[in-house]
Amino acid sequence: MKRVCREEARAGKTIGLVPTMGYWHEGHLSLIRAARKRCQVLVVSVFVNPTQFGPQEDYRQYPRDLSRDIRSAKAEGVDYLFHPSVEEMYPQGFKTEVEVRELRDKLCGRSRPGHFKGVATVVLKLFSIIRPDVAFFGQKDAQQAVIIKRMIDDLDLDVELVIMPIVREEDGLAMSSRNLYLHPEERRAATILYKSLQKARELVLGGERRASVIISHMKQMIEEEPLARIDYISLTNAENLQEVDIIEDKVLIALAVFIGKTRLIDNLLLDVSGA
Ligand code: AMP
Repeated sequence: MKRVCREEARAGKTIGLVPTMGYWHEGHLSLIRAARKRCQVLVVSVFVNPTQFGPQEDYRQYPRDLSRDIRSAKAEGVDYLFHPSVEEMYPQGFKTEVEVRELRDKLCGRSRPGHFKGVATVVLKLFSIIRPDVAFFGQKDAQQAVIIKRMIDDLDLDVELVIMPIVREEDGLAMSSRNLYLHPEERRAATILYKSLQKARELVLGGERRASVIISHMKQMIEEEPLARIDYISLTNAENLQEVDIIEDKVLIALAVFIGKTRLIDNLLLDVSGA
């Protein structure tokens, strides 16, 4: 992969990278299509990264279907599909980890300690191997996007970051490989995440600026859904992920909710400046 990417770079081509854990859906495909349009060489990685899963999490059962991803890659005009083994990525004696302090502890970091260390480390490795000019990530994982941006700035990496909007099912549920875990009843209940975000948007458009009021409306809605259990609901500054009491400028409304045993995340970015 390194040799191929260096040759492409020497030939003066723009290299785009879309990092994924595979089992592609339309969310992944939106990143791949944007990257295809923008870059001369398109590399997509498929790697279920064990270091970003906690001991009680779903690393083993995480859905995988490489043949299907390969078919999609061909159909989308992907130039290289990078599918390293765990042993290649983390050979014996591996010791180095990337910690993006403070940002890693917020939102999802609270219930997934170590998750963003795993993410930052694997993304830096992918950047080092592929040396992309442009890397594409989804707004679905809002905190991940903020952390990768911070890492790029802090470590002076020559990578341009492109963040693509959340792709949703018709009923609003954000597409996710984990939606596969949902039984039909849970699938129906899972729409509560998006519905609560719509409620938040409505309140903000109606002039509400107090985070506590917005959170309590969302909380109440979600608590009425018997299959749902809130992990967190948070209104933060979209850039530094600090919680806000009163909304100003750009706010990230983010939540994580268990639907049965499946933990789902969603978010909404709103800009109230000049509104
Ligand atoms: P994953 O395979 O879940 O690690 O996701 C790979 C990339 O796709 C990440 O940058 C995600 O943020 C992005 N992604 C996942 N789901 C969606 C979605 N519904 N809409 C947009 N991007 C997404």
